[in-house]
Amino acid sequence: MIILKSSEEIRRLRRAGKLVADAHALVAEMIRPGVTTAELDEAVEQLIRKAGGIPTFKGYQGFPASICTSVDDEVIHGIPGSRRLEEGQIVSVDIGVTLDGFVGDSAWTYPVGAIAPDVQRLLQTTEEALYRGIEAARPGNRISDIGHAIQTWVERRGFSVVRDFVGHGVGREMHEEPQVPNFGPPGRGPRIKPGMCLAIEPMVTMGKHHVRILDDQWTAVTVDGSLAAHFEHTIIVTPDGPEILTRRE
Ligand code: MG
Ligand code: MG
Repeated sequence: MIILKSSEEIRRLRRAGKLVADAHALVAEMIRPGVTTAELDEAVEQLIRKAGGIPTFKGYQGFPASICTSVDDEVIHGIPGSRRLEEGQIVSVDIGVTLDGFVGDSAWTYPVGAIAPDVQRLLQTTEEALYRGIEAARPGNRISDIGHAIQTWVERRGFSVVRDFVGHGVGREMHEEPQVPNFGPPGRGPRIKPGMCLAIEPMVTMGKHHVRILDDQWTAVTVDGSLAAHFEHTIIVTPDGPEILTRRE
């Protein structure tokens, strides 16, 4: 069942989304060669708790940290640790916050220092894919119009869309219905309605779309070792179209 949100619930979702955005602003400031992913995790957890929130990922199905940090060929669900980021790498940081009973969820892929032009292009393409997906999330469209917009754009740019993980509804739970795939034909799935809160999150690779899970049971990496990017916003559908709840100021 898809839960449509009341105006009071939307008010709370906005606050949760704002805190996720603040956490990303902190991460953006901290990322540089030499910083460890555990340092990012610690700083974000502190910021969230200080604001009265809960890091949604911590303990979720046993996940051991507050954020996911996925470096280079890691697509999503990387576990923060003592690894130091190096110049030229990319790191996808996924952050979830529960505040006042409601969740915000947003991921961003950050360059570490200077990166190669083709990697820059991967990041730009994935970010643009996110905004194209969001643009399709308007009343009257169907859920698969989002993934169709994403896939069409990404493949036109010569990259691949990951199939094994999808976007989702958001609310009191991080993962609500409906699933929001990043690929597929248009005009399928539930009709998009005002009050739907969705996490739209294209994952894009430079090579093939296949992923596998490492022995840590969490980290998803590309099978071919190609680099991957992940951009995600939580949005609320309004009568006038999508409103992004996790946008950084
Ligand atoms: Mg996320
Ligand atoms: Mg998500």
